[in-house]
Amino acid sequence: MKRIPFSRLKPSSVRLALSYLAIIMALSVTFSVIFYRTSTSDLNLQLQTSTGGGPESGNNAASPTVGIVGGVDNPTAPVTISGNISGLNTQLHERTVAIRTDLVRRLVMLNIGALLIGAGFSYYLARRTLRPIEAAMDAQARFASDASHELRTPLTVMQAEIEVVLSKSNLSLDRAKAALRSNHQEVTKLRQLSEGLLRLTHTGQSTTFAPVALDEVANDAINQLLKLAQAKHITVIDAVPKLSALGDRQSLVQVLVILLDNAIKYSPSGTAIHIEGDTEGKYTFLRVRDEGPGIRATDLAHIFERFYRADPGRSKQHVSGYGLGLSIAQKIMQQHGGEITVASELDQGSTFTIKLPM
Ligand code: ADP
Repeated sequence: MKRIPFSRLKPSSVRLALSYLAIIMALSVTFSVIFYRTSTSDLNLQLQTSTGGGPESGNNAASPTVGIVGGVDNPTAPVTISGNISGLNTQLHERTVAIRTDLVRRLVMLNIGALLIGAGFSYYLARRTLRPIEAAMDAQARFASDASHELRTPLTVMQAEIEVVLSKSNLSLDRAKAALRSNHQEVTKLRQLSEGLLRLTHTGQSTTFAPVALDEVANDAINQLLKLAQAKHITVIDAVPKLSALGDRQSLVQVLVILLDNAIKYSPSGTAIHIEGDTEGKYTFLRVRDEGPGIRATDLAHIFERFYRADPGRSKQHVSGYGLGLSIAQKIMQQHGGEITVASELDQGSTFTIKLPM
């Protein structure tokens, strides 16, 4: 167990550790009391038997030598005591008191030991219990801070526009329309962002999985984005054979829409996007391959993080987005017991692969 300096003890962990320690000590003290009671009642019984002092025998037990069991150092060793009855009783009483005192001393030591070891163990256990909860709370706080940061930008732009318009004493119709157009753009961005955030928090809740035809999933996704691709003169080549996997159809279409949308957004016009599929072992694979700008190795490790956008200087100026698409896709894939991976090199295009259990 690692030693932790006092100053680094976390108050929440200490509080939980104290509760654990209270339980440990309550058990330890209860068992000690039970043990003490049982042991001393055994001792009384043995004393009575040895001196012949049961209720039936009364004071007739006047034998010159009497054996009792027990002693301070060796409680089970027989001890021989000689003398008359009253002297004998005194000696027996002293012996009993000595044995009891010794028992109490040992039990107190045992409980002190339990307190010390229990304190360390309780803190260790409390840290282990609280660590995942703290990680979840940190992630939630980061999410809230990232989300409010992203929401603030369009709101600030809208506020500035409105203030400029309001400050004009005589506003032309054209100027008013331009301001409204700009505000409309920002509102659209806000709506996209809030939809993305909603999807990220609600994705896959209470979905039931059933066999899904992946060729139909690919077809649905392509149909949703065909106009966008055509507008950019990008050809989408659908080469998905008849394939099936276990999942939620709508969510899987959503994943492919995200991947296709990215491929269209980031690829130059006149290029092609290929959607392919195959199976291997117990898994089905779908691939979205583009001829776009590719992704730098340093960005590859982060593109599935919420709000991460590779090279903001390059992508944020020209391509709209909030860095939420891939994290939504990843979450959906995790809920399906599958995964999403990417292979890409700068200027060599990108291939996103989703892997699903069949
Ligand atoms: P968004 O597209 O809204 O920025 P995503 O989470 O979908 O958010 O993508 C994260 C980042 O990954 C993008 O900002 C982009 O830099 C990079 N990326 C994703 N797909 C591609 C692609 N097909 N080609 C090049 N870069 C990509």
